[in-house]
Amino acid sequence: MPEYEAVIGLETHIQLNTETKIFCACKADSWGDPPNTNICPVCSGLPGVLPVLNRAVVEKAVLLARAMNAEVQEISYFDRKNYFYPDLPKGYQITQNDQPIAVGGYMDLPMEGYVRHVGITKLHMEEDAGKTKHEHGRRLVDFNRCGVPLIEMVTGPDLRTADEVAAYLIRLRQLLRWLDISEADMEKGHLRADANVSIRVKGETGLNEKTEIKNVNSIESLRSAVEKEIQRQIREVEAGNVIEAWTLDWDEDTQSLSKMRSKETMADYRYFKEPDLLVVKLDEDWKSEILADYPELPLARRERFISDYELPEYDADILTSERSLSEYFEAANKAYAGDPKRLSNWLMNDVMRLLNEQGLEARDLKVTPDYLAEIIKLVDANTINTPTGKSLLEKVQQTGTSPREIVEAEGLAQVSDTGAIREIAERVVAENPDNVAKYKSGKDSLIGWFVGQVMREARGKADPNLAREVLEELLNH
Ligand code: ZN
Ligand code: MN
Repeated sequence: MPEYEAVIGLETHIQLNTETKIFCACKADSWGDPPNTNICPVCSGLPGVLPVLNRAVVEKAVLLARAMNAEVQEISYFDRKNYFYPDLPKGYQITQNDQPIAVGGYMDLPMEGYVRHVGITKLHMEEDAGKTKHEHGRRLVDFNRCGVPLIEMVTGPDLRTADEVAAYLIRLRQLLRWLDISEADMEKGHLRADANVSIRVKGETGLNEKTEIKNVNSIESLRSAVEKEIQRQIREVEAGNVIEAWTLDWDEDTQSLSKMRSKETMADYRYFKEPDLLVVKLDEDWKSEILADYPELPLARRERFISDYELPEYDADILTSERSLSEYFEAANKAYAGDPKRLSNWLMNDVMRLLNEQGLEARDLKVTPDYLAEIIKLVDANTINTPTGKSLLEKVQQTGTSPREIVEAEGLAQVSDTGAIREIAERVVAENPDNVAKYKSGKDSLIGWFVGQVMREARGKADPNLAREVLEELLNH
């Protein structure tokens, strides 16, 4: 059997998080609203109305184009894509076909041991259609989603594995949130991805017939759908069959793909320029206004965290997974002025647990970066021990009070006075002759139990290393 490789391209639709829809003043996000309550004459396609382009849509498209290294075109315009479907009240979708807002571009995807270069063919703005559903034998239509702003972005046939597909979507989702372009929640349809999949014998360069996978609503499901389709195509080819250009529908319940329809020849959408809208002219002034204060992007920040702070790739990946977390790390690192890896451990273990438990973003924490640095410094200076430091983190988060004040008010400073610890240790040794005998007969592991007893007597405030030293001395003489 020859070795095969997959050739995969992705078509993504990104729902923008603008206040209003793309061509009218209706609220863009109608998640959870009753059907047809968030519509007006423009987005429900009544005759005689005129669309007006939402500036924020153009601005978010430019932000994304820049992140994808795409070339923003000074002049772009909208076209009508004509087709009939019950969820499309106008009988056409306003989209960009001839002159999209941006062309070209790429994303370099860090994978295990290599980087996959994914080309971006084009990026354009368009309006969403409504939704239809079947209920009690009737066909119902909801126009709330009509006119919701989308960016459609198409990659080249550059992805080779299901893991790369997942990695691309994870990076894209991260970017969209980083730049505040979209909620990018696949479950809610804010980010939709259709995958074109074909296979070829490794080493060949031509493109074979492809199938298109649709209606997948999570990154994990798309990963398994693509993997299953690659395996199916290999089985077909090995059995001497040809791959036909099917559209495949993903069924989440059965985790399987089924044939929706054979792909007919390209539908004739009779595109023509949208006569009710002006061309979009992005002059240098507007462009530089949009791109002013453009943030460092996650992949660049990840590289910098690795080179400047000598963090492992794993840490850098997690710390740059969200913009506010990465900013928190840098602010805390500046305040701490110690080992960045030590700070990273605190962040990844204790701070992130707080974030997950309370459903917060790093910027919302009452434990400010300065406070976190203060807590770690108190531990480093042996003023408090590590367990006290961890509970102090929780107390600061509850009260918003500075760590130092809490340590003073609650008398949390640990006992590092050898005399006081020795007194407790002597008492523990005197009260437990059985365990002393066991320890002396060779059960060394009991030292941990003795340390625990001393810590308990000192109500957690003893320096555990000092306690161990004193105990070893008492027990071994
Ligand atoms: Zn409207
Ligand atoms: Mn589209």
